[in-house]
Amino acid sequence: MQVNTLILGAGAAGMMCAAHAGPSVLVIDHAKAPGEKIRISGGGRCNFTNMHTDPARFLGQNPHFHKSALSRYTQWDFLDLVDRYKIAWHEKTLGQLFCDDKATQIVDMLRTEMAQAGAQLWLQTSLVDLSHDGVLFTAQLERDGKRHSVTARNLVLATGGKSIPKMGATGLAYDIARQFGHQVTDTRPALVPLTFSDQRFAPISGVATPVIAEANGTAFEEALLFTHRGLSGPAVLQISSYWKEGDSISVNLLPGHDLVTALRSARQTHGKRNVTTALAEILPERLVTHLSAELALSGNVGDLSDRRIDELTNYLRNWTLIPTGSEGYRTAEVTLGGISTDRIDSKTMMSRDMPGLFMIGEAVDVTGWLGGFNFQWAWSSGVACGRAIAKRT
Ligand SMILES: Cc1cc2nc3c(=O)[nH]c(=O)nc-3n(C[C@H](O)[C@H](O)[C@H](O)COP(=O)(O)OP(=O)(O)OC[C@H]3O[C@@H](n4cnc5c(N)ncnc54)[C@H](O)[C@@H]3O)c2cc1C
Repeated sequence: MQVNTLILGAGAAGMMCAAHAGPSVLVIDHAKAPGEKIRISGGGRCNFTNMHTDPARFLGQNPHFHKSALSRYTQWDFLDLVDRYKIAWHEKTLGQLFCDDKATQIVDMLRTEMAQAGAQLWLQTSLVDLSHDGVLFTAQLERDGKRHSVTARNLVLATGGKSIPKMGATGLAYDIARQFGHQVTDTRPALVPLTFSDQRFAPISGVATPVIAEANGTAFEEALLFTHRGLSGPAVLQISSYWKEGDSISVNLLPGHDLVTALRSARQTHGKRNVTTALAEILPERLVTHLSAELALSGNVGDLSDRRIDELTNYLRNWTLIPTGSEGYRTAEVTLGGISTDRIDSKTMMSRDMPGLFMIGEAVDVTGWLGGFNFQWAWSSGVACGRAIAKRT
């Protein structure tokens, strides 16, 4: 069988690319259904983009690489598509756009777009072997127990990163990129809960509080959630992309609170109130109980000196912790790092060294913040690649 374009991976980026890549496209995926991560994303409602998409909200060794694709297919372009399909949506918070109903509406929309473009989709299909003769790629595929040999002028690597292997994530794109001479940067789980081997937060698991969490100079003001194994919630998921084993994190438990003034005034008005009771007016009670030994909280507010009030405030503003690790790829939303962008053309997503080889989506060393940015990268890089292939054809 001969096609113009073979796309490996029917996820967010692969499907978007197929819808724009012109005629004669075959998309293969080893999963039973396309877009499985879209289906489970955003608690089943898919946070499909972010109104505040901006290149500064992405990480990667080259901070400029993603600018071109993001500016040529923007969050507004994707929203336009969603509106054309009459998919109802809402902004949840911080520019994050979600479906009102079901994430599968996005999958169905992409399937329709692909079908309208004439792309074929082969599910439960795996790649057995791949070669290149200088002009064409030849892929040996296995589908329904049968071998198929497919030749293609263009090959698109869209098999994503390593996060959630249970859902079929593999390092296939990295292996093929390496096979054709591309470098792959170090990869790490990102947007992932952080863990503590002593499970010190197990007694307060389920408690959530607004914080400013910071790792290696980057801070996010969002909610923090204590879990059996450590820390989660959007603030922690965000900083996990900036954290490495051995690094400390700092948590400001008092965003928007002037604890110094509150305790000084309570000293005058409610001097007989227990210090823990006074703090529990600002922080969740179970968290105050948890912190009481570490902070030696005892006695009444009336007995607090100015110095002690300053000391408590500074401690709670710079609560410093050293996580042992993270939950890893088992639960990470994304993989940080990936195929190095050094030898990829940022306008077309094509290899600079091997014409016809394209790399898109999470497989590439571009990682977004939490909040719809990773899907936007999948859409933008998929469209950039698809349009380039259509032009090449
Ligand atoms: C639980 C969860 C929730 C998320 N929620 C959001 C969210 O709300 N908003 C957001 O922006 N991002 C979210 N993300 C991140 C987002 O899902 C990814 O960044 C995005 O799906 C990447 O798109 P992709 O097409 O590059 O890869 P994927 O969508 O992962 O697609 C890769 C495809 O390749 C296939 N594949 C892999 N290996 C092989 C192989 N060896 N052979 C054949 N096929 C293969 C897979 O089956 C898959 O269909 C979430 C991720 C997770 C895990």
